[in-house]
Amino acid sequence: MIFVTIGVLALQGGFIEHVNLVRKAADQINLNVKAIEVRTADELSQCDGLIIPGGESTTISFVAAQSGLLEPLRDFVKSQKKHVWGTCAGLILLSDEANATKKGGQELIGGLGVRVHRNHFGRQIESFESSMDLPFLGEGSAPFPGVFIRAPVVEEILSGSRSDSDVQVLAKLPGRVNKMKTGVSQANTKDDSGDIIAVKQGKVLGMSFHPELTSDARIHAWWLKSIVGQ
Ligand code: GLN
Repeated sequence: MIFVTIGVLALQGGFIEHVNLVRKAADQINLNVKAIEVRTADELSQCDGLIIPGGESTTISFVAAQSGLLEPLRDFVKSQKKHVWGTCAGLILLSDEANATKKGGQELIGGLGVRVHRNHFGRQIESFESSMDLPFLGEGSAPFPGVFIRAPVVEEILSGSRSDSDVQVLAKLPGRVNKMKTGVSQANTKDDSGDIIAVKQGKVLGMSFHPELTSDARIHAWWLKSIVGQ
């Protein structure tokens, strides 16, 4: 029987929610999964896959650095090339570059050859929900409830990044580009196909939104299946 251990980085943010949804998804697809909270290099070394939750990326990276976890995390993603999925703050941490960071920048884990723009959609009060079509969940699947809280977007895919594999755009959020502008000109001002909100490169996956803040376990199930190769 296949048995996988999934860790959720538990330094700050929505880690309990991810642990619960991993368990729910595993039940739904009948997969034998052990979900653990990760706070040490030893716990990390037990994992076949890791989730980095939403929260505050500066805090998560600060605590990771203080607890000696930054290098083990980089090793897990880039040398051991294990499965990693970051949501919101987690996407920021997994990006090779981030814009709009705090003074002095912030330590990233990296692994995704992209540059993200932090807090792209504005402040906490400008959080929103959007019902999204996510083609990777299967053609014709029901819309997914996208929860965006001070969410980053992928503003550029970095060419010439170390590439055993290319960055794949998995989803865009249509219709919010140039949200301050109104009228006909809006459609023509920029790339109007929308903001990039989900990407994958090799075994590294990043999403702008928070599936962990919904009760919908479909993305967790999809990710678990990709880990066990079903
Ligand atoms: N913008 C936040 C950051 O920089 C992430 C927000 C979130 O995870 N909800 O960490």
